[in-house]
Amino acid sequence: MEKLDIKSRTLVELTGEFAQMGLARFRAGQVFRWLSRGAMGFEEMTDLSKDLRRELAERYEIRGAEIVRRQVSQIDGTIKFLFRLFDGQCVESVLMRYHYGISICISTQVGCKMNCSFCATGKSGFARDLFPSEMLSQVQAASKDVGERISHIVLMGMGEPLDNFENVLRFLELVTCPEGMDLSMRAISLSTCGLVDKIYALAEKKLQLTLSVSLHAPNDGIRSRTMPVNKRWPIGELMKACRYYTKMTGRRISFEYAMIQGVNDSDACARELAGRLRGMLAHVNLIPVNDVTGAGYKKSDAGRQRRFAQILQEHGVTATVRRTLGADIEASCGQLRRKTEGGKGHEGSL
Ligand code: SAH
Repeated sequence: MEKLDIKSRTLVELTGEFAQMGLARFRAGQVFRWLSRGAMGFEEMTDLSKDLRRELAERYEIRGAEIVRRQVSQIDGTIKFLFRLFDGQCVESVLMRYHYGISICISTQVGCKMNCSFCATGKSGFARDLFPSEMLSQVQAASKDVGERISHIVLMGMGEPLDNFENVLRFLELVTCPEGMDLSMRAISLSTCGLVDKIYALAEKKLQLTLSVSLHAPNDGIRSRTMPVNKRWPIGELMKACRYYTKMTGRRISFEYAMIQGVNDSDACARELAGRLRGMLAHVNLIPVNDVTGAGYKKSDAGRQRRFAQILQEHGVTATVRRTLGADIEASCGQLRRKTEGGKGHEGSL
């Protein structure tokens, strides 16, 4: 019989299951706290009897994320982890140090279905969704590795978080649970390529997380060429969903805009983008594109970046240019891809 994924269960669920097993009520809390602290096996749970530990191990498994490789940037100390999951699949996470704390960028899927032309992740296809336990495990394993508490989480690694909606929501519930890791929802950002139906669904939850929307173009012509998702949900519909999101949550949306020389970085593009965002509670994050797909995309130069930001500001839209971290270890935006364990051979077509 397949064992149950205990770390993906909420405290309420665990309490219910334990009650059915005839266990005392406080046991669920005990086990939940062990799991939240990153216990990797039931034998670590020394305040449970040996018999109980054995009983739990027969019924449940603890899905972790084993570090199979870590690379440290010589430039800024950013660390990229390659994790192996219970079935041998691998994902990457990136740990970054900021003045306000330590932030980790985690993966939500093995691979991605979205196939944005500038992003490496989609190039090697899609394998599967991650379980909530596996998202938690990336945070826990990285935190253990550096021996420090992680204060911020961004769901911007491999995968499209809103394409793994239920598991991501459950992860958010687990990681913010006061009896668990107790992170503030405000310390979490979720980035989406624009799955409009799911943005509406997320808005209904009224969570205080930061929503980032990968826009990357001011109009449907450019966006459909680089992001296939735009053919399903064009910019007009995406913007409508974003306005609804802000109305429901009161939260400012962060728009990601990867600047690609000669593709989306003209003055006219900046003005068109400003027109789209005017009057919205929005912030634009400009990201000099990393050419990772062999498409020949070049970063807009520093002068262009400044000018683009300036036009947005002049039109009343706040914008900043994102600092690139971890460039020497391929840990920057869009550089994460499916890897085999040794970390050398890339799976798939590349
Ligand atoms: N699927 C989600 C989250 C993962 S990507 C999303 O699309 O938002 C995290 C961010 O990196 C997104 O904004 C994505 O568009 C951006 N990105 C991908 N490839 C990039 C590249 N080559 N250069 C700069 N940013 C890139």
